[in-house]
This record gives sequence, C-alpha cells and structure tokens, in this order.
Amino acid sequence: MGGKSDVPLLVDGKRVDGRKPDELRPLKIEAGVLKRADGSAYVELGGTHALAAVYGPREMHPKHKLDPQRAVLKTRYNMAPFSVDDRKRPGPDRRSTEISKVTRECLEPVVFLEQYPRTAIDLTIEILQADAGTRVTGITAASVALADAGIAIRDLVSACAAGKVEDTVVLDLCGPEDNFGQADLPIAYASSLDKVTLLQMDGLMTEAEFEQGMKYAIDGCRKINEAQREALRRKYQ
Ligand code: ADP
Repeated sequence: MGGKSDVPLLVDGKRVDGRKPDELRPLKIEAGVLKRADGSAYVELGGTHALAAVYGPREMHPKHKLDPQRAVLKTRYNMAPFSVDDRKRPGPDRRSTEISKVTRECLEPVVFLEQYPRTAIDLTIEILQADAGTRVTGITAASVALADAGIAIRDLVSACAAGKVEDTVVLDLCGPEDNFGQADLPIAYASSLDKVTLLQMDGLMTEAEFEQGMKYAIDGCRKINEAQREALRRKYQ
C-alpha cells in the first residue's frame, strides 16, 4: 500500500489488468479436490490461488482445550514459500497469525458449532500463489471446504476486497494495485444472512468512498457466493 507505481494504475477508467472499477478478477472454484481430507476446495481469484482442507469434527487435542458445549474451530493460514517471487520464509509469522485469527472469527458465526460438542474442526488454508487478496481467497475456499466436509452451516461465507486506486474506488485489488494503491478493504459476507463477518481496512478512504467500497465488495461477494454454490452443485449433483 502506498508508494509510486512505474505504470499508471488507471487509464480512461481501465485498470492495469484491463478491468473496469467494479469488476472481479476471473474466478474459478472447485470443491472436493483432496481425497484424504473430509472436505476441501481450490479457489483461483486472478493470480491468487488458495487451497483449503478440513478435517473433522474429530477428537480434540489437547483434551483440556475442548469445549463441552461446542466444537472448537482451529484455523491455520499459510503462504507457501513459492507463492511469491522473493520466496516467503517458511513458518508462522505475525501476518499469518493475524489472518488465521480473522479467518476463524469470520467463519464461526455461520458454523453450527454447538452441534459438535467436545470436538475440533481443523481448517488449513494454503496459499499456493499470491497476487493480493490472499486472506479473502482463503476464506472463500475455507467456506466451500467446510460445506464439502458436510459440516452444518447457516450459510456460505464469501469474501473479496474493495480498495482505492488513484482516487477511484475499485473492486478486488490485483498485485500492483495492492502494492501502490491508497486503500484496501477486505470483507467477508454471508449472503443469505445479509451479514458482514469480516471488515478490515488498510489506508485511507472518505466516508463516501467507504460506502462505495462496501457496496462493490458486497456485490462481489454475492457473485462469489453463486460460484461457490455452483462448485458444490457440480460435485454433488
Ligand atoms: P492480503 O493477501 O489478504 O491482501 P496483505 O495485505 O497482508 O494481505 O498482503 C498483500 C499482498 O502482499 C499479498 O497478497 C501478497 O501478494 C503480498 N505479500 C504478502 N507477504 C509477502 C511476502 N512475504 N513476500 C512477498 N509478497 C508478499
């Protein structure tokens, strides 16, 4: 975020990758891609590729951390070392710890955790290729993986970011826009509950820009929700 890009990020209303301000990058979703996992999903949002795997509900380890009333959702977000061109140092860091936490918090409201007391649901998100929006792409994949695992959910969670580039509000930042733009507004949204379950912001926006960004992002999430449903239908019908 911030800094100056070598190439103009917006020319005659067209973005660096040719998109209009309110356009998502090409989206591809596949459910049930891993045989061993109880549920899994693979999502591509432009150049960002994420894989999510779910194991459980299963016995909780360590036992003293179990909750007698509900399942414990354990989330782990990780960027593969080869996901970025300068090699990401393997292992957890502050950023992945934060993203693991917000991922858990944005999914918990839609999972019927109380149906699975004393158990753990293990959710892992692996970013295979990173080109901005990895947290939202991971959340979109995670939600499909939970559904694929047959875990009772109130709704699918869909996620995407809006942002601001050269004083223009745009949907779904790509790499250069994320690096050199003015704001990034990732959100997660449960369409049928009409509930925003994640809202973060980096950079600065006026109130009107924020409203516009939220509108773009929620519309984007609705489109992602349709693609998530379609992916699950393809697998189960
Ligand atoms: P998000 O991926 O959810 O937008 P950030 O705003 O923290 O989260 O990261 C923005 C982008 O910066 C990532 O999508 C990725 O493309 C890039 N990035 C993050 N960490 C690294 C890293 N260690 N090396 C290179 N690029 C990185």
